[in-house]
This record gives sequence, structure tokens and C-alpha cells, in this order.
Amino acid sequence: MSTAAAFIRGEDDHLARTYTPLAVVVERGEGAWVTDVDGRRYLDCLAAYSAVNFGHGHPTLLEAARAQLERVTLTSRAFHNDQLGPFVTALAELAGKDLVIPMNTGAEAVETGIKVARAWGYRVKGVVPGRANIVVADGNFHGRTTTIIGFSNDPVATTDFGPFTPGFVSVPYGDPAALEAAIDENTVAVLIEPIQGEAGIIIPPADYLPAVREITSRHRVLFIADEIQSGLGRTGATFQCDNVGVVPDLYLLGKALGGGIVPVSAVVGDRDIIGVLNPGEHGSTFGGNPLAAAVGSAVVALLATGEPQRRAAMLGARLDERLQALVGRGVLAVRTAGLWAGIDIDPALATGRHVCERLLERGVLAKDTHGSTIRLAPPIVVEEADLDWAIDQLEAVLADLAPRP
Ligand code: PLP
Repeated sequence: MSTAAAFIRGEDDHLARTYTPLAVVVERGEGAWVTDVDGRRYLDCLAAYSAVNFGHGHPTLLEAARAQLERVTLTSRAFHNDQLGPFVTALAELAGKDLVIPMNTGAEAVETGIKVARAWGYRVKGVVPGRANIVVADGNFHGRTTTIIGFSNDPVATTDFGPFTPGFVSVPYGDPAALEAAIDENTVAVLIEPIQGEAGIIIPPADYLPAVREITSRHRVLFIADEIQSGLGRTGATFQCDNVGVVPDLYLLGKALGGGIVPVSAVVGDRDIIGVLNPGEHGSTFGGNPLAAAVGSAVVALLATGEPQRRAAMLGARLDERLQALVGRGVLAVRTAGLWAGIDIDPALATGRHVCERLLERGVLAKDTHGSTIRLAPPIVVEEADLDWAIDQLEAVLADLAPRP
């Protein structure tokens, strides 16, 4: 048995089966590459769903974490720590907003955004107590907590996990008229992903987010952009909203904010909205801890240079050019945004899972979604030649696929 097989056996015996990972056991990572327990190297074209935007073991981020590990890692918010103030100041400035609520995981940021929107609705907008509603989009993925899955359309996410939190209305994604029709006097917010990542890198029409901004402003409804996966460099901008010239009321951030080292998430917005929360109404034992804040500050400093965003845009153009050439050669459609791609494999040829397994054999890590789609989101530090090589591997996998009987 290979070393990898022994590790997988251990998981099979004692790990709850909530995932079906590919058969690779990663031992170390550097930049865009990881090495498994048998010494084989793979180009990481998933980057932990964009949490590793800056690559494995980024020297500056590691140094920030190491230095803080030696000082103090957790204080709770019962006391101040010397890392949190600089972190929230830098993050607010990066986002052009006033206030930050620091949390840990993406789902927590979403839950926090929902609480802020409801409190704003009752305390500022004057919504009838208990009646607040939030408009979301079909195909959404905002996390795994019970409130969040309650407004998912994916039966795998919801079946047997109800009853769910009321107060959400789902409308077709990319359709401003449907969104406006769902807004009533009790609507406090519209919560959407600027690009739907888990749905398969679904990019709405270019005028959609500007229309959402206009409609929400006109109806005095908050626009909450879940940039947990699309934000922080991935799409060639700090936020995907920047790419379409839109500023939401609240940014929900996560994943890459922790540099792939620690979970760091945040809700970022202006004082007249986030300022509605009072002491004691929201919190987290770990949110804003000094280790997370130190890493978060280093991440924000990287983004403040604009370099990751420029690199994602530059490499993204190459990725798009190469992938579009595969359409008609086993690929039905390709959608890219910066260094992020959804590739619809012809289901007559193979499932997305099958393609990912073949890519694994060739040294490329990628992830399927929704049957026949695969997504690529390599770390932004990936070398152009390595990116080209990964697409060569995809091309070779597609060429090997015979039509399924
Ligand atoms: N929001 C979006 C857009 C996401 O893509 C995800 C995770 O994939 C989440 C929220 C949830 O983040 P987490 O898994 O850190 O809770």
C-alpha cells in the first residue's frame, strides 16, 4: 500500500463522510505547488477555493504569523490587543469603508451581515418588528449554517436539515426585474455573490450589479456583496464589484483574508449601517484575535500594493485565451473572471469528477462542481509557464476522452 493509501484508510475509518476528496494526501506546499506524502508534486489549481490566493507559504504572510505566534495569539475581545486596531484600519481603508466586524469563517461573516441588515432595518429603516426580509439569488452558496442553507436551492444542502429561518426570498440570478419585484416595504437587504463561485463561476451580465445597486438605493435596501470567494484579488481587482464599477453597502470577506494560514473573515461597511450594533449584541471568541489580525494586516498590505490584482488580471487573460480554444473540443463553455475559470465539460464525454481524476494523474489539482463543470482557481503567484502546463494537461485529458456510449 502506498503511503497515501494508508492515510486515506485512516480517514475512511474515523472521518465523517461529509466530503469525497480526490485520492491525494498533501504533505507540504510552496507557492502554487503541493507535494504529497509519496513525494509527488501537483500544481494546486483550486487554492482551497481561493483561500490560498497568495500561494502556499507566502514568505511575508508566514513571517507575520511566525512573529505573532511568539508574542500572543488569543486574547478574546474582553481585552484590546495591539494587532486588531491596525488590521481593521487597513482593511477599512482598502475597502473605502468606516467599520469592520472581524469574524473567522465565511459563513460567520454571512450570518453577521444578516444580523446587521436586520438590525439596520428595524432601527433605522423602521421595518415592522419581526417582519424583515432579505432577497437572495437562486443558485447561491453562502456557507453551511442552518440559516444560510435555508435559502439555498440545492436539495443536497437542505434535505433533512430543516426547519429553516424565515425571512428570505430567492429570485433568479442576473435578473434585475425579478429582484426589484421581490422587494417590499419590509426588505432590508439584497444578498448576492458578485460571481456565483460554487454554482460554477456564473458571471452575471455586466449591467446586473449596477442595476442591483440602483434598485437597492432607490428602495432604501442594503446591497450586501458576498465577496468571500470573488474578492481579494482573484478576479483581477480587489473586489469583483470594482470590475463593474459598483460599491455595495456591505462587503462580506473571508477565505484569502487569512492568507491560507488562519480563518479570518469580516463584514466591512459604513458607520451608519454597521454602527447600529451595540456592545453585547454580536461577537466571537476567536474573531479579531491577534494572530488572525497580524496575518490579515499582512494580507491587506499585499493587496494595497495592487500587485496581486494586476497579476490575476494578466494571467487571467492568458487563462481565458487558452481555455476558450478548448470550446468545441470536449468543452461546451468557458467562463473566466481574472484567474478564475468555470469549464463546462461535455457531459456526453465525462463528468467533472472524472476529468479531475485524470488531471490528478497528470499532476494537476482541480475541483468539479454540479456534475460536469470544473473550476480552476490557481494561486495568483502561479508562474505563467506552470499555468500553461496545467492547461496542456487539461487539453491532453480531453483528447483522451472517448464519447461515452
Ligand atoms: N460565501 C461564499 C461566496 C463562499 O464561496 C463560501 C465558501 O465557499 C462561503 C460564503 C462560506 O465560507 P466558509 O466555508 O469559510 O464558511
